[in-house]
Amino acid sequence: MADKRDYYEVLGVDKNVNDNDLKKAYRQVAKKYHPDTNPGDKEAEEKFKEAAEAYAVLSDPEKRAQYDRFGHAAFEQGGGGGGPFDFSFADMGDIFGDIFGDMFGGGSRQRASNGPVRGADIKTTIRVSFTEAIFGTQQEIELPLKDECHVCKGSGSQPGHKPETCTKCAGKGQVVYTQQSLFGMARTVQTCPDCGGSGKLIKFKCSNCAGSGYVKSKKRIQVAVPAGIDNGQSIRIRAKGEPGINGGERGDLLVTILVDRDQVFERRDYDLFSSEPISFTQAALGGRVTIKTIDGPYELDIKPGTQTDTKVKLKGKGVPTLRNKNVRGDHYVTLVVQVPDKLTEEQKSILNQYANTTGVNARSSTDSASAGGSLFGDHKKKKGFKKGF
Ligand SMILES: [Zn+2]
Ligand SMILES: [Zn+2]
Repeated sequence: MADKRDYYEVLGVDKNVNDNDLKKAYRQVAKKYHPDTNPGDKEAEEKFKEAAEAYAVLSDPEKRAQYDRFGHAAFEQGGGGGGPFDFSFADMGDIFGDIFGDMFGGGSRQRASNGPVRGADIKTTIRVSFTEAIFGTQQEIELPLKDECHVCKGSGSQPGHKPETCTKCAGKGQVVYTQQSLFGMARTVQTCPDCGGSGKLIKFKCSNCAGSGYVKSKKRIQVAVPAGIDNGQSIRIRAKGEPGINGGERGDLLVTILVDRDQVFERRDYDLFSSEPISFTQAALGGRVTIKTIDGPYELDIKPGTQTDTKVKLKGKGVPTLRNKNVRGDHYVTLVVQVPDKLTEEQKSILNQYANTTGVNARSSTDSASAGGSLFGDHKKKKGFKKGF
């Protein structure tokens, strides 16, 4: 091996460099020589490793002190310092994770280290009725859940064998492809095809789990749907997701709620909207009408002379809020005046009498058939009549 370059020189920093500037300098050098940006370039790869090694030493106060005293001799086998410093490519996963974690889209990346990794979340959907969403409900679902294989304890290897670090991805579980595009270098991160993203290669597969390290079985899970949940909202059920790796905690189960539509009510946030037909005599004379609410029939007194499309607010008759089910939205009811489309002769004559008292020129029962609903004509007639006043 050629003479090692000075670590400070490798990173292009001063001997008195502080941690922050050291990190910055390393980031720059590592980016420049990163294997993803220099695919197949052996020299770049060496420089990249050299920088990583330099940073691994200089970013550790103890190792840095040793290096300052003894130079490279501090980390050579049998050297004068604190024992050999074994640097391997796999160790870089950690340094790399710290510095470049954000570049790889965070937590989805599998680490080469044996530290605990939280299991992934699982998503599913359930359907509830409109009223179940309003008042809350319980649903039991059945899902296939993974558990660690008890034979291999999750390693996937036959007892007595150990998985090996995947060489293609150096245990990272992902490979980065770089391509020249119109906008410069485009990077795509893909799951390592050799190890399927685990970072490990299993030569002797556990027969119980076929090398996956997990066994699936159907589990019954209670889903408590809270009162007030709305269409598309999700419930997080802790620790019912994928199992963690290396003792990491389980992921969560995210249940998205799909709410059925209702024939009567429409919902907007915590408010409800509906329309209620009222007869034209009720509208004119006033009276008590029965309104459908989610709590059941509600008796509403309406004033004489209520116009069609009058909106009534029933305070606190809406949807319970998720935070406190005793706090509810409102229910807005639109009263729609119904004009009868069928009248008996008696009713017609009564209405004609009424019309005569108001001076409005109503049609007699005989000419209503011949006139055939000429709305425009009616309209004109009325206008003309009003002018006459
Ligand atoms: Zn197994
Ligand atoms: Zn791999």
